[in-house]
Amino acid sequence: MTQQRILIWYRNDLRIHDHEPLYQALQEKAQVIPLYCFNPRQFGQTSYGFPKTGSFRTQFILESVANLKSSLQQLGSDLIIRHGEPEKIIFELAQLLNISTVYYHQEVTSEELAVEKVIAKNISMKGFWGTTLYHPDDLPFEIAQLPELFTNFRKKVEKDGYIRQTFPFPKQLPALPEIDVGKMPTFEELGVASPIFDPKATIIRQGGEAAGLTRLNDYFFSKDQLKVYKETRNGMLEVDDSSKFSAWLSAGCLSPRYIYEQVQKYESERIKNDSTYWLIFELLWRDYFRFICAKHGNKVFYRSGIQGIDIPWQEDWTRFQIWQEGKTGYPLVDANMRELLGTGFMSNRGRQNVASFLTKNLGINWLLGTEWFESMLVDYDVCSNWGNWNYTAGIGNDARGFRYFNIPKQSRYYDPNGDYLRYWLPELASIPGDKIHEPLKLTQEEQKRYGVILGVDYPRPVVDFFKSIQNNEAIYNAALSRK
Ligand SMILES: Cc1cc2nc3c(=O)[nH]c(=O)nc-3n(C[C@H](O)[C@H](O)[C@H](O)COP(=O)(O)OP(=O)(O)OC[C@H]3O[C@@H](n4cnc5c(N)ncnc54)[C@H](O)[C@@H]3O)c2cc1C
Repeated sequence: MTQQRILIWYRNDLRIHDHEPLYQALQEKAQVIPLYCFNPRQFGQTSYGFPKTGSFRTQFILESVANLKSSLQQLGSDLIIRHGEPEKIIFELAQLLNISTVYYHQEVTSEELAVEKVIAKNISMKGFWGTTLYHPDDLPFEIAQLPELFTNFRKKVEKDGYIRQTFPFPKQLPALPEIDVGKMPTFEELGVASPIFDPKATIIRQGGEAAGLTRLNDYFFSKDQLKVYKETRNGMLEVDDSSKFSAWLSAGCLSPRYIYEQVQKYESERIKNDSTYWLIFELLWRDYFRFICAKHGNKVFYRSGIQGIDIPWQEDWTRFQIWQEGKTGYPLVDANMRELLGTGFMSNRGRQNVASFLTKNLGINWLLGTEWFESMLVDYDVCSNWGNWNYTAGIGNDARGFRYFNIPKQSRYYDPNGDYLRYWLPELASIPGDKIHEPLKLTQEEQKRYGVILGVDYPRPVVDFFKSIQNNEAIYNAALSRK
């Protein structure tokens, strides 16, 4: 009897550890054929014309695929690399290599599901769930009954949910049959510009499972940072303020269940405290947005969001550009937007503030901001990004009326000495102490003394903070009453 051949279709699961499709195929003693397709759709444009996968993430994906290939080679196999639409490539390979089944990790959103559906027309497919901490079958409710409040979700899963063990790392893999394994595309072939990192970028993430595992080990064990995560996680400046696992999680280079097991190891070997709990708490947010997308389907992409609130958003491109370029006259917003431009990353605190400013102060369509993030973020994850933007724009689950971030107050609280602002806004560096948070409040005399003339060296605020909040609140409440 000839050995059956199972194609392992890699997408956002670029790892070997805790990889159920790979593990199960090996259990069946099949010849495994790992494949990664650079899907041209993923490198197209968003609906507002931004590159769907910008330079920073493209680099991360290229590095992650290269690392996966080398790990597979070390185990005796290899990764077939193709540049083209997966449904066509898989169909051709299936015929050429007599593939019996395609094993893959399931996704939940429409673009990914559409491709799966087309492939399934011609070949047998077996999907596995591997993106979240909790497997949907182990949740104490059906996805359709997923609570709309995060806190209710968290309490229920913490009480009655169950986290599965990771799958073991394979020791050896069967060699590939005779086949052209292809080669990595260049930035040019993908139609993406090479990334230009700002020299101030403090962390340039290396894509791939190996670098992800190293970061985890460094952050938890070598630097022993996990024990203070809860206190530092809102910091914006330092590499170790938070875990920085997100890019590796989004590309699937790190498995959340593996992180969970390492937290348990840390707790038994070092310390168990609020911080060790809190990292898992944050991973629950990630799970939550994935399940929310599974529950609500395409609503998460609608302008009116999951709640169906039809807000007459503005599409003022001049103001949008001011936001994109970090020239709003609100230092906290500007520093964060410039960090994003120069590194492809922004802290969670930053993301919340800039998203609030775009939607609650500028009243600009949240879809523009969401697509800009999609393009720029090295850690873009469809569910986390669209779910968080729904939430911040006030049209998502857990919508509790018009809520906004008080930007100057947040700035003072989370960057008390203004170090983060000075780092990303060198034109404000000479303003001492607390005054940096609101340059508008500088007297003419102070502006001269610090060499920061408003409207010349640094922009005047694009909108009055509280007046713009009042206006947008009225618009939001009117939309809510029409619902
Ligand atoms: C408007 C907006 C858009 C966002 N877009 C994305 C995105 O595209 N991709 C993405 O991974 N995260 C997104 N986030 C969530 C969060 O900002 C990042 O996950 C976090 O900043 C990454 O840094 P870290 O890995 O150091 O996080 P840590 O604080 O170390 O958290 C550990 C992990 O928990 C998860 N996590 C933490 N907070 C959240 C959250 N609010 N929602 C979902 N998961 C969370 C992430 O996987 C993160 O890596 C977004 C948040 C906002 C407000």
